Amino acid sequence: MHLKSLELTGFKSFAKKTELSFNTPITSIVGPNGSGKSNTAEAFRFVLGEQSIKSMRGKRTEDLIWNGSPEMGRSNRASVKLVFDNRKRLLNLDVDEVTLERVIYRDAGSEYLVNGSPVRLRDIVELLAGAHIGASGHHIISQGEADRILNATMRERREMIEDALGLKIYQWKREESEKKLERTDENMKQVASLRREIAPHISFLKKQVEKIEKTKLLKVELQMLYGDYLKREHAYITVSKQKIAEEEQTPKAELSELNHKLATSKKVLEETHGKDAKTKAIIAIEEKLNSFRKEREALSREVGRLEGEIAGAERLQKIQGAQQPDSVVIPLSEVEGLVKQIDAVSTDEDEQDAGILIATITRIKEVMHVFLEKHRRKKGEGAEDMAKEIGELSTKKKGFEEKLRVVQEEEKKTQEEERALRAEIDKEKDSSRDAEKEVFRIMARQNELHGTLNALRVRAHELEHLEGDFKRELTEGVLLVGREILEYETRELKDGNGQTLNPQAMTLEDRATQEERRRKVEKLKIRIEDAGGGNGAEVLKEFQEANERDQFLAREIADLEQSAETLRNLIAELEQKLDEEFRGGIEKINAEFQNYFSLMFGGGSAKLAITKPEKRIRRDVDDLMDGGDAAALAATEGEEKQETGIDIEVNLPRKKIKALMMLSGGERALTSIALLFAMSQVKPPPFIILDETDAALDEANSKKYGDMVENLSKHSQLILITHNRETMSRAGVIYGVTMDKSGVSKLLSIAFDEAVAVAK
Ligand code: ATP
Repeated sequence: MHLKSLELTGFKSFAKKTELSFNTPITSIVGPNGSGKSNTAEAFRFVLGEQSIKSMRGKRTEDLIWNGSPEMGRSNRASVKLVFDNRKRLLNLDVDEVTLERVIYRDAGSEYLVNGSPVRLRDIVELLAGAHIGASGHHIISQGEADRILNATMRERREMIEDALGLKIYQWKREESEKKLERTDENMKQVASLRREIAPHISFLKKQVEKIEKTKLLKVELQMLYGDYLKREHAYITVSKQKIAEEEQTPKAELSELNHKLATSKKVLEETHGKDAKTKAIIAIEEKLNSFRKEREALSREVGRLEGEIAGAERLQKIQGAQQPDSVVIPLSEVEGLVKQIDAVSTDEDEQDAGILIATITRIKEVMHVFLEKHRRKKGEGAEDMAKEIGELSTKKKGFEEKLRVVQEEEKKTQEEERALRAEIDKEKDSSRDAEKEVFRIMARQNELHGTLNALRVRAHELEHLEGDFKRELTEGVLLVGREILEYETRELKDGNGQTLNPQAMTLEDRATQEERRRKVEKLKIRIEDAGGGNGAEVLKEFQEANERDQFLAREIADLEQSAETLRNLIAELEQKLDEEFRGGIEKINAEFQNYFSLMFGGGSAKLAITKPEKRIRRDVDDLMDGGDAAALAATEGEEKQETGIDIEVNLPRKKIKALMMLSGGERALTSIALLFAMSQVKPPPFIILDETDAALDEANSKKYGDMVENLSKHSQLILITHNRETMSRAGVIYGVTMDKSGVSKLLSIAFDEAVAVAK
């Protein structure tokens, strides 16, 4: 015995707390119509988690709560408690007694409690399913529902039978697994779609990464080439600059020297500009000499004349000493002097001119008269005069001679002066010519040197350009390859023999080779730029992350596939198990069905037949309680699916009736009871509640019914709501339900004899 008691509080007509104890295998509940008997059966359905309000004869949840009467106000809550004896661990809980409780409120849903602790409906359903107390309620046959199994569709019938066979748990597991499989498939689809979504990004990143790898290799190549190029370029620039600086030194020094020389030469040239003054001085000296010469000549002539006069006078003196008194001795010199005077007169003038000629003759006459007069006087004057004259002449001569001497000295001095001046001029002429020559030479050399320096400057300028390019290359190199490029300074370049090249040796290389190197560098740069790749580290990280995510998703899919496979296998196993159990169960039921049927009808045959698959139809959820929880449960049980159904084939003794529809009410009841009992016999449920299942039976059949009930009670606890005396007689305990004017159902434990009376 598994049921201990049922307690109703505020449930339907049981306004007050009412408890039914079930300590016998068969308990009967009796009472007049409308007293509330069926409400107790519904209390069982209710506490076991029934979701259909209709099946508890209500429209709304409130219909299940004591609605009040003039005598007693309505309740706001209804609760039903069912106590199980769990010593045999009927329910999968490690306690000896289990109390299930369901409470409803007018304004809220249901509460479920197991041993006082709130649980979900699902927990209740699972707990009961494990104890073969199914949801289809094959063990609770409500009033007028005895032939429900006959009226049911094949699918419903199958469900009832599955439930009765305890296959619900497998079915439930199968449906759970199917749901899980569906969810798994859905998840797989989602994960696959995620993978598909990120796939283009990954392939894009992969290409980027390939580009980056390629760029990396190119960069290494560029770094090598660049390093070589930069090292050589740096050496070339440095060495070339040094060379230019060296080459500049000599011409610069020479130029500065030349400048100095040029200044000197120019000064010399400037100085020769005093030449004109000297020339003027020469002219002045020459004029002076000329006048000296004239003076000297005049003085010489005077001296000569005086000498002649003196000599004449002296000769005359001598002559006069030896001559006659009337004669006068005239010295030849005087005569010559006279002639000279006359010559002087005649040669001085133009003889062609008559006037002049006359004047000349006049002059000659004068000279002659003067001469004659002079000598007449002399004749008189005597010898004394002569001596006096000679003396005077000598004195005069001496005076002239002195003057001549002075003039001659002056002339000599002046001549010397002139000579010196001329020598000076000559000398100056020479040095000026040399200076001019020097200036030209210096200027020519300066030009030459300027040319050389200009050429060097052009080279220096070119080097400046190269240096600018070099610096730009460095900046570009750092941007493109990184700061490693600056390591070119510490780089060592070797020649063919493995000897380290010094900067000088590097510059010996043909510039064309370096140009070629630069072209290669440029080409590489272009290739690197073309290769692109963006920020390497970031892309690599992103690629890695995306890849990891993809691999994670791939693993996820694999895991999901694995669990889907496990689920499919489980489903297949469950289906096979279900099928086997179902077919085996049907066979067993058929054997019992045949027994009960022939017992009831005194012969004939009946059996269940498995029909071809029919469409499962979703259960109507209109009258469901407990919202989403219930809907979820209904969904678990429903959904369209191809399944086999169950047909009932009957063969009444002595009648040719095979279709169920053609059976009488009693026959239908008997057939249903036979089937229900057969089902309960094969897999006995812990308890069976039969609400007036025996209503349509006549006395003979009531007896048989009573026997069968007793038989059933060996395996299942029975609660029989009945008006049937025969049935009542089989019960260990009989409860009488009464309802007074207040509309409240009341319970009393009664003896069999009373029961018959109470039932009426
Ligand atoms: P019968 O022998 O005719 O089948 P019964 O003993 O099975 O009758 P029930 O159908 O269990 O009687 O009880 C019906 C009674 O319960 C009715 O009188 C009805 O008014 C009452 N009832 C049902 N729901 C409520 C409720 N929510 N509040 C009060 N009374 C209720």
